[in-house]
Amino acid sequence: MSRSAHPAGPRHADVLPEGHYSAPPADLNALDPKVWAQTVERDADGVVTVGGMAVTRLAEEYGTPAYVLDEADFRARARAWRTAFGTDADVFYAGKAFLSRAVVRWLDEEGLNLDVCSGGELATALSAGMPADRIAFHGNNKSPEEIERAVRAGVGRIVLDSFQEIVRVAHIAQSLGVRQRVQIRITVGVEAHTHEFIATAHEDQKFGIPLAGGQAAEAVRRALQLDGLEVIGIHSHIGSQIFDMSGFEVAAHRVVGLLKDIRDEHGVELPEIDLGGGLGIAYTSDDDPREPHEIAKALTEIVTRECEGARLRTPRISVEPGRAIVGPTAFTLYEVGTVKPLDGLRTYVSVDGGMSDNIRTALYDAEYSVALVSRASDAESMLARVVGKHCESGDIVVKDAFLPGDLAPGDLIAVPATGAYCRSMASNYNHVLRPPVVAVRDGEARVIVRRETEEDLLRLDVG
Ligand SMILES: *Cc1c(COP(=O)(O)O)cnc(C)c1O
Repeated sequence: MSRSAHPAGPRHADVLPEGHYSAPPADLNALDPKVWAQTVERDADGVVTVGGMAVTRLAEEYGTPAYVLDEADFRARARAWRTAFGTDADVFYAGKAFLSRAVVRWLDEEGLNLDVCSGGELATALSAGMPADRIAFHGNNKSPEEIERAVRAGVGRIVLDSFQEIVRVAHIAQSLGVRQRVQIRITVGVEAHTHEFIATAHEDQKFGIPLAGGQAAEAVRRALQLDGLEVIGIHSHIGSQIFDMSGFEVAAHRVVGLLKDIRDEHGVELPEIDLGGGLGIAYTSDDDPREPHEIAKALTEIVTRECEGARLRTPRISVEPGRAIVGPTAFTLYEVGTVKPLDGLRTYVSVDGGMSDNIRTALYDAEYSVALVSRASDAESMLARVVGKHCESGDIVVKDAFLPGDLAPGDLIAVPATGAYCRSMASNYNHVLRPPVVAVRDGEARVIVRRETEEDLLRLDVG
């Protein structure tokens, strides 16, 4: 297990034992509900449908590759988080996982708040009508222009990431005659991925202000003295794709310890704590994520217990799931272009996309599942690797895949759980055009982000 290869902050790595891959599934036509969006099923003809639409029809109408998003599933997951945390807590969807104006409207309608971490994300949120006071602005190097825009827009909180930023935001807010609500992001010396976490005194990473050495306490001390700032709480984000709650337990213990020190020194009890995001989802049948209600119960209990121990009023909790809401709701639909058996090794299946629409496999060694979706097949399974069309041998979408041995050019295959960090991290490598996002609901499909065109590409190239 690699415990240190992934930088902190927006961490999406799945870390699995070396040489790990599952045995072939008993039935290659089966669709594990753990990894597929809620309304996905295989119809009587063997064609996979989502929201009542056949993937063959989606491919005809919208082309491939395409991200296909199950709107009902997105809304259900957003609502489940909202309901699980209730009215005494806030759920901020982490926009970096996937952001579009349609998604912002769904979040608004389902009562969630929104995290943004750039001017572009802020612009998207505001243009879709998300009330500014439900937006949190993140980032370790927000530009003065971004800060000014966020303050002018009236964002509900800015999460401060450094000593310099404390002064910078205070100065901008004061010059605009505003007292900006802020949280201070600290690093508590906990790094969590999947089934493990490590607790250390120091965290060697770019985000936040270390608790170690009294730095976080000093940051709060300074922020409390500045007229432009209203310090509403402490923020901690410990990792990504986490299944094990014990990392949050250590983090909450340390955050509450700081709240207590602040109370003892300054006589103020900060009213909020944010425990970040990072909750895991199932990319393959081996993953066992927790339900939002279990997570809410565990986090609430941990914070309540810690606060009772420290004789503090329990602060309002917020969480920031990104992947756990949008990840499972989409799959990427590809057309098979070539099938190349390599004797004694495996079969390379080339699709019409690749690392430009899903960089996670190359970047994090992420594991994915894949299925033939345009028809059912009774053929024997073959060990395959699904690769893209880029000029790069690391252009792998699914490293170890079992697919039917009769797979042929023209078949449609789909990779589930690509809702998070795929479209949002997509690139134009090899001048490949980024796929559309097609939202499906109740038998109707609608493009929410259109496919890029060569015109789009050439528009930026001024010659
Ligand atoms: C990336 C990030 C999140 C969301 O992480 P997920 O793994 O998508 O849940 C939440 N909060 C902060 C501060 C982040 O950087």
